[in-house]
Amino acid sequence: MTERMLTVGILGATGAVGQRFVALLANHPWFRIGAVMASERSVGKVYGDAVQWHLPAVPGAAVREMCVTPCTPDGREGLDFVFSGLPAEEAVEIEPLFAARGIPVVSNTRSHRMDPRVPLVIPEVNAGHLAIIPDPSRTGDRQGFIVTNPNCATSALALALDPIHRRLGVRKVMVVTAQAVSGAGFPGLSVMSILDNAIPYISGEEPKLETEPCKIFGCIHHDQIMVSDMVISAACTRVAVRDGHLMHVSVELNQLASRDEIIACWDDYISDIHGLGLPSQPERSVEYLDVPDRPQPLLDRDRGQGMTVTVGRLRECAVLQWKFAVLGHNTIRGAAGGAILLAELLTVRGWFPRS
Ligand code: NAP
Repeated sequence: MTERMLTVGILGATGAVGQRFVALLANHPWFRIGAVMASERSVGKVYGDAVQWHLPAVPGAAVREMCVTPCTPDGREGLDFVFSGLPAEEAVEIEPLFAARGIPVVSNTRSHRMDPRVPLVIPEVNAGHLAIIPDPSRTGDRQGFIVTNPNCATSALALALDPIHRRLGVRKVMVVTAQAVSGAGFPGLSVMSILDNAIPYISGEEPKLETEPCKIFGCIHHDQIMVSDMVISAACTRVAVRDGHLMHVSVELNQLASRDEIIACWDDYISDIHGLGLPSQPERSVEYLDVPDRPQPLLDRDRGQGMTVTVGRLRECAVLQWKFAVLGHNTIRGAAGGAILLAELLTVRGWFPRS
């Protein structure tokens, strides 16, 4: 049977994350863009005029000439699902409107991430949490639902922790981040605020980094996600880097382990999507680099087309047990790329049927 392309909408298509969606979906083998939606500022303009494009590859003519429409589910029967790159304040109301009309939402925003009835998923780490969404083969109907992917820093942190957590159990985590300016959206911080500077505060970021991994490493109980008892302390800093969040992580494990055993966790990692061959799945989701001065944002953020999280500098920690550095591309692995991989998983698991 021929498999059809799925038609997707993008909520917040003109923003930093929205532009990544447009770029990453340009030649996607399963998904094609059917609607670009944004604020009143952009509605009625063609996408090419509404967007202040800032990525290397320019969008194709079909998307450039598409009219930007409002973020409402009215008249969206042709969409199979939507990706959301909306600000949280807007997403909290807009995303449920789509879900209520039977249009699933794959969201990047924090609004529904910690709702125990909404899966918060990194496909490699906790694909099993999708089981709390109503099973399409059981209901037979087109179901609206919201699934979320984590905050950009959480995506990299949880992927770096997962291989160790599976084998050795991670009990406590301390993390200090150096986060890129693109994490603040577009146009983001003014040059005067960030050039030659580092800002030891990112509004709302530390609570996300301290709670989201606990939900990701949690378990299902009565169709809800129960958070794990992992304890995390986070300190978040904005630095003058364009893309790529770097972080220093210290961990206490449930078991004693040698340096070689911990590196083997990353080298031998078999994730929840091992062997599925999803189009956005990198060859290595996590890669340990045994080089003293890596990972670096400039050199390592594009590893695996921005989908590989790079780990390095594993050494003993005098306070907890081990410490290491982690780097992830915030708008690819930590946002649009992660959401597209999640939608691909939903497709192969039957929630977005292609036949
Ligand atoms: P952004 O650059 O500020 O883009 C926001 C988008 O939402 C724009 O398309 C904007 O449209 C639209 N929008 C704003 N107000 C709206 C309204 N009232 N109604 C409808 N649309 C509206 O933000 P971003 O960095 O892309 O982030 C988007 C979401 O992803 C946020 O929730 C953020 O926390 C999350 N996130 C961001 C990153 C990152 O690295 N940047 C990573 C992970 C998650 P106009 O252009 O028309 O104003």
